Amino acid sequence: MIYNVAVIGAGQAGLAMGYYLKQTRLSFVILDKGSEIGESWKERYDSLKLFTPRSYSSLPGLSLEGEQNIYPTKNEISDYLIHYTNTFSLPIQLNTTITKLAKVDERFKLSTNQGEYQSKNVIIATGPFQQPYIPNFSKHLSGEVLQLHSSEYKNSSQLIKGTTVIVGGGNSGAQIAVELSHEGEVFLSVGHRMTFLPQDIGNKSIFWWFDKLGIYKANVTAMPVLMTRGPNFTMLQSSTQKQLINKSFQLLSLLYQIYLLKQIFSITLLCYPSLNWKKRLPRWKTLCFG
Ligand SMILES: Cc1cc2nc3c(=O)[nH]c(=O)nc-3n(C[C@H](O)[C@H](O)[C@H](O)COP(=O)(O)OP(=O)(O)OC[C@H]3O[C@@H](n4cnc5c(N)ncnc54)[C@H](O)[C@@H]3O)c2cc1C
Repeated sequence: MIYNVAVIGAGQAGLAMGYYLKQTRLSFVILDKGSEIGESWKERYDSLKLFTPRSYSSLPGLSLEGEQNIYPTKNEISDYLIHYTNTFSLPIQLNTTITKLAKVDERFKLSTNQGEYQSKNVIIATGPFQQPYIPNFSKHLSGEVLQLHSSEYKNSSQLIKGTTVIVGGGNSGAQIAVELSHEGEVFLSVGHRMTFLPQDIGNKSIFWWFDKLGIYKANVTAMPVLMTRGPNFTMLQSSTQKQLINKSFQLLSLLYQIYLLKQIFSITLLCYPSLNWKKRLPRWKTLCFG
């Protein structure tokens, strides 16, 4: 059979594609090397909680169930992806690894471990996290040091007792560092000064604020400022876009400070309703911040 569309990868992107393709008359198939849907989430570390709340983790057409401000676990997501696939009866072939993609005449030939597929169009949705990046210096470390990439890390029982150094302070690195800090000494090694933003401001996820400030739906040319990693990265966005994004981050930071002050005021007001505020405020502010 020659499909109109072959989608490679049945992660979030591939499944969302499937949802939209299902609404057309096009014949299509989604191919994935995994043995089950949601496998890449299942394989991640045990304690993984998403940094996006449910309201910002759902795919088109089907919301994650439950309180929308809650941060889902990795298992919730893998279950949700299975539920999503079943709800929309998406045509998925698992255990199918694409090893070669070639255009022959006006068609694409997809060579896989399960034989060949043919399609007029191909959508590649193989994801950004298939190949772990391990820096070169790791080869020069003593054999006594246990080295694990975050994709291999499940929980602290894998580690040798003693100090742990986490290289890289992205979401995985920071979350694993917090987890391990409850059990022993942990250092987080990063190549640049880190900016920490709160996860929530005033009971709203930071993603809600990003959404309202227009950062969340940044267009393609604005993306590099959010993803400036690696020595070969070319900055594509205009300085106006950069300024706008920077301004939005500044505004968020300001909002957070206002929120903190508001919290401090309301707590202090609650505890000491009869204080003479004009005289006492500076002293209490310092105490609370400390
Ligand atoms: C630790 C961690 C925490 C994260 N937390 C969040 C979060 O809180 N919120 C959030 O929005 N995002 C989070 N992400 C990012 C999120 O996982 C990705 O953005 C998202 O999964 C990308 O979806 P995708 O469909 O593009 O790729 P994937 O989900 O990676 O799917 C790609 C699919 O392609 C398949 N595939 C790859 N190569 C082949 C091949 N040759 N043949 C056949 N199939 C193939 C894979 O088996 C896989 O199923 C996190 C990522 C990590 C690593």
